[in-house]
Amino acid sequence: MKKTGLVAGSLMLGGPLYRCIAGGSRQERAGRGLVLRFRPFVLQHRHEFTIASGSRTTTPVMLTELGYEGITGYGEASMPPYLGESHDTAGRFLERLDLSQFSNPFRTEEILDYVESIAPGNHAAKASVDIALHDLTGKLLGQPWYKIWGFDPGNAPDTSYTIGIDTPEVVREKTREASPYKILKVKLGLDTDRQMIEAIRSVTSVPLCVDVNQGWKDREEALEMIHWLKEQGVVFVEQPMPVEAIDDMAWLTERSPLPTIADEAVQGPADVGSVYGAYHGINIKLMKCGGMRAAHQMASAARVLGMRLMLGCMIETSCAISAASHLSPVTEWADLDGNLLITNDPFEGMKIIDGRITPPPGPGIGVTPA
Ligand code: MG
Repeated sequence: MKKTGLVAGSLMLGGPLYRCIAGGSRQERAGRGLVLRFRPFVLQHRHEFTIASGSRTTTPVMLTELGYEGITGYGEASMPPYLGESHDTAGRFLERLDLSQFSNPFRTEEILDYVESIAPGNHAAKASVDIALHDLTGKLLGQPWYKIWGFDPGNAPDTSYTIGIDTPEVVREKTREASPYKILKVKLGLDTDRQMIEAIRSVTSVPLCVDVNQGWKDREEALEMIHWLKEQGVVFVEQPMPVEAIDDMAWLTERSPLPTIADEAVQGPADVGSVYGAYHGINIKLMKCGGMRAAHQMASAARVLGMRLMLGCMIETSCAISAASHLSPVTEWADLDGNLLITNDPFEGMKIIDGRITPPPGPGIGVTPA
């Protein structure tokens, strides 16, 4: 594998140059083989973001481009620090790829199996290639992915907007800012849970969903809390207990008056069967499962098992958010607000219209550099 280092054609998004790897510029000119470029970028948060595991004001992402015969597919890896990936790990993973060996971008199974085979883990880095490849092939076909997958974009759900854990004053302010959204997602899992819900309810009566991020340790208390949350107009509870507490979760799910959704407990397609019976549904995220191919597989597996479906995201740009939006028509709930929580989105793509997700008409994932 030859590395060309920095390439001039990569200024399109502004900021630092992309690093280019593949068969080198000679092959790029000849239009043969896929050319991968990537560059690190740091997303600035609109508010400090606090969940049960900690707070932060920025999120590192790796932006990727996959070039083929003058067409460019865009991708992204979003890497919240608690998931273990970073600019460094993603850079090292992407440098190991030699995509110039693939001269037919439609051999997506072969290409993505190769990416998967390079190293275990690295789910976000893998997603950045997967998304760019889907964008590229969709553009070559001239179609959006919801259409290629056979979904009606009119079935896309409303997106929730996330309210992080904070003081009642800040929570009320964030809730007022969230007035365009028809459902709010509330982060819980600390000893301020009831205070959080009461602060929100003092401002709005829209439906809520809650994400406990494994914060509740006792199943009896969790059940009591879920009954109280139901009275407060909550519609489902995401990852109430620790991932390891699978027996407690099965107990809780059997008794819970609200649907329980696995998030941290389900990573990729192979995990869907293992949470069946312990949760009512799963939360699919491109950065967890490794991209659009795996996300679609997870949705299919869950539908076969009769499980409920939610689509989520990290704090990420409109690139990964738009990619996810193409799967949203088959999900009951979606939390695609990651791009709304940042101030320096380098892309334009999926728009929320009247609170609802509107998958872009494409082609591909339907994004343009801002
Ligand atoms: Mg979650």
